[in-house]
Amino acid sequence: STSVVIGKNRDCTSVIVGDTTASPVIMAGPCAVENKEQLMETALAVKEAGAHVLRGGAFKPRTSPYQFQGLGVDGLHLLSDARDETGLPVVTEVMEPEMVEVVAQHADVLQIGARNMQNFPLLNAAGRNSHKRPVLLKRGLSATIDEWLLAAEYIVAAGNPNVILCERGIRSYDPQTRNVLDLTCVPLLQQLTHLPIIVDPSHATGRSELVPVMSRASIAVGASGLIIEVHPDPNTALCDGKQSITPAQLQKIVHESRMLTHML
Ligand code: PEP
Ligand code: MN
Repeated sequence: STSVVIGKNRDCTSVIVGDTTASPVIMAGPCAVENKEQLMETALAVKEAGAHVLRGGAFKPRTSPYQFQGLGVDGLHLLSDARDETGLPVVTEVMEPEMVEVVAQHADVLQIGARNMQNFPLLNAAGRNSHKRPVLLKRGLSATIDEWLLAAEYIVAAGNPNVILCERGIRSYDPQTRNVLDLTCVPLLQQLTHLPIIVDPSHATGRSELVPVMSRASIAVGASGLIIEVHPDPNTALCDGKQSITPAQLQKIVHESRMLTHML
């Protein structure tokens, strides 16, 4: 696969996604940026645990309009501060084409969420972003692999070849898990595309106790990295606490994923 470089020409550590000889890239952080203290504490803790990229939503695509919607532009500034403090590049979601430039100014990777996988104006705008930030394209809630690849093609066709695919589970009928993690798509995509693929075991399962084992499984099938929700106190998280793990649990996953890579 072709690799994608994150954090190039920025005051942070550059990270390569899709380098088959290297350890998997671990992206970690809270579902949502809640406040300065929560973000800084989490950012320092995930760095200490061995993560390479900080995640955190400033614009949250919540199912209900009455749920916490994120801090918006204030959250972007907090993410920038966290990058300055830790040296970790930042990935955060952009929901509207009009916001691509401001998000690209603050973030190192533009995340396009599952609910927006086929928002074609957004895909175009992300492809054209003037900062040339890579795009993390999550699989749509019920998207086929071909629909997902064509969505990626929109970004590439708009001028940005730096797309990372992210499997985050697909919709099915059983509410025991939030989604069904389609791990078969990882080796399948390796046949179909040169783009690197990572897995999000947090949204795939919706259950923190399943995150470590599905992280191991993801690395075993060849994922180039993981994006994991981490909160210092999952019980009080404003968003997705049930699926959020602690920094200590993350540290173990980082260690296990390195060991597994050496075995492959
Ligand atoms: C997220 O990463 O917090 C998120 C909203 O993910 P998804 O788009 O996969 O649901
Ligand atoms: Mn989330």
